[in-house]
Amino acid sequence: MKDSAGDNRGGLQELLPPLTTHEAAVEAARCLMCFDAPCTHACPTHIDIPRFIKKIATGNLRGSARAILESNLLGATCARVCPVQELCEGACVLGSERKPIAIGRLQRHAMDYVYRRGIDLLQAGEATGKKVAVIGAGPAGLTCSGELAKLGHSVTLYERRALAGGLSTYGIIVLREPMEVALAEVAMVQRLGVRLETGKDVGNDPSIADLHAGFDALFLSVGLGPTPQLGIPGEEFIVDGLDYIECSKLDPSRLTVGKNVVVIGAGNTAIDCATIARRLGAERVTMVYRRSENEMTAYPHEYDFVKREGVGLWFLAQPLKVHAENGAVKALECVRVQLGATDSSGRRSPQAIAGSTIMIPADQIVKAIGQNKPSLASQLRLATEKGFIRVNADFETSVPGVFAGGDCIRARGAASTVMAVQDGKLAAHAIHQRLVNHG
Ligand SMILES: Cc1cc2nc3c(=O)[nH]c(=O)nc-3n(C[C@H](O)[C@H](O)[C@H](O)COP(=O)(O)OP(=O)(O)OC[C@H]3O[C@@H](n4cnc5c(N)ncnc54)[C@H](O)[C@@H]3O)c2cc1C
Ligand code: SF4
Repeated sequence: MKDSAGDNRGGLQELLPPLTTHEAAVEAARCLMCFDAPCTHACPTHIDIPRFIKKIATGNLRGSARAILESNLLGATCARVCPVQELCEGACVLGSERKPIAIGRLQRHAMDYVYRRGIDLLQAGEATGKKVAVIGAGPAGLTCSGELAKLGHSVTLYERRALAGGLSTYGIIVLREPMEVALAEVAMVQRLGVRLETGKDVGNDPSIADLHAGFDALFLSVGLGPTPQLGIPGEEFIVDGLDYIECSKLDPSRLTVGKNVVVIGAGNTAIDCATIARRLGAERVTMVYRRSENEMTAYPHEYDFVKREGVGLWFLAQPLKVHAENGAVKALECVRVQLGATDSSGRRSPQAIAGSTIMIPADQIVKAIGQNKPSLASQLRLATEKGFIRVNADFETSVPGVFAGGDCIRARGAASTVMAVQDGKLAAHAIHQRLVNHG
């Protein structure tokens, strides 16, 4: 993995530069090393934060990275993508009066140190003879696979795409996480002995029946599906937000960016699309959302960021139709709405105000309105909750021996990488208990 600080590609380089050795030492020295530290409680994977920071302060970066990896196999990714303001750094006792400790950046400092030097800190466990199939190589699947390998199980990790890493590879913008970081973690999991099979669409080839016959347990970490349809005339002219981000990561030179871009949605994906458009040359970027600022699902710091990027927002506007001439987008027609009663999402539902249509000029429209529920759930006839796969406290689905974790089970709370990592870790331990106790 190379240092991404100098990697400047048309405004899409990693936003935060790495800390220098001196900066890291000074920051680490500010930590009060709290006993029963609130930051550790606030981290979903419960990394012993004072311990890893103390090791940075004493120059022991290997030891620091080891402390992180004990709790979180994807420490390099999480250091970059975690909403730290809401998690560890939000709980830092220094935050009430001064700046909280830059926990994410210190974590990145320790993790990058070992990856850049090719240092492996983890080993596969003694072979148990048990075989587990993991389906989906995003953060949940990679973590579950790596933890199972550490416990001595033989793991085959199936991935539909050409590259593993899930949304860390294809979905999180380079400003936050360059692709090399996710791929370095994939390689680390492979070095633990996990056999990665890419280009395998489980359900078709191989079938679930094949996997049931060949493995002692299955873990489903398939994430969510594609962006849903809006169901409006002219939708065929709208660009899919996930494709937009993916192209900006794989090959930004192939991405067509309009001069006047409208992004439909107001979650974190919409903010990412708006940021890409701005940074790759759009003169005007406007986000359109059918609810108000209060119902936005984007993190407050992301919302502040996109405003600083010069992105405009139209609240309480519902898309009705895309206007195009000779295949070229001209405008998005919307109707103004007011908020009525609370709907199934727990938010007030938009109701059209008669005769209030507006025309928002645009030469490109991008939709970023979330993702469909996992289709494998209905294919396998698994019990679901709000369309997500239902699991018990041991991450086991309604089919015995089939476990699940990550975004595909997240019926409650916001989906995030660190939550997927924690699911993968806990599920691996539950699978291990099942395999050693029940054969
Ligand atoms: C645009 C965007 C930006 C985000 N930014 C952040 C952020 O900044 N911080 C943060 O914490 N979270 C962020 N998230 C959320 C985070 O990426 C997810 O919560 C996390 O990736 C979930 O991990 P997962 O392993 O459950 O699923 P995924 O990462 O979606 O991985 C699922 C994997 O399963 C594979 N798969 C699916 N079906 C099959 C099949 N049948 N056979 C084989 N393989 C299959 C998929 O190809 C994929 O690789 C973002 C999400 C999006 C969409
Ligand atoms: S994994 Fe995320 S939440 Fe946990 S300490 Fe690291 S940056 Fe903070």
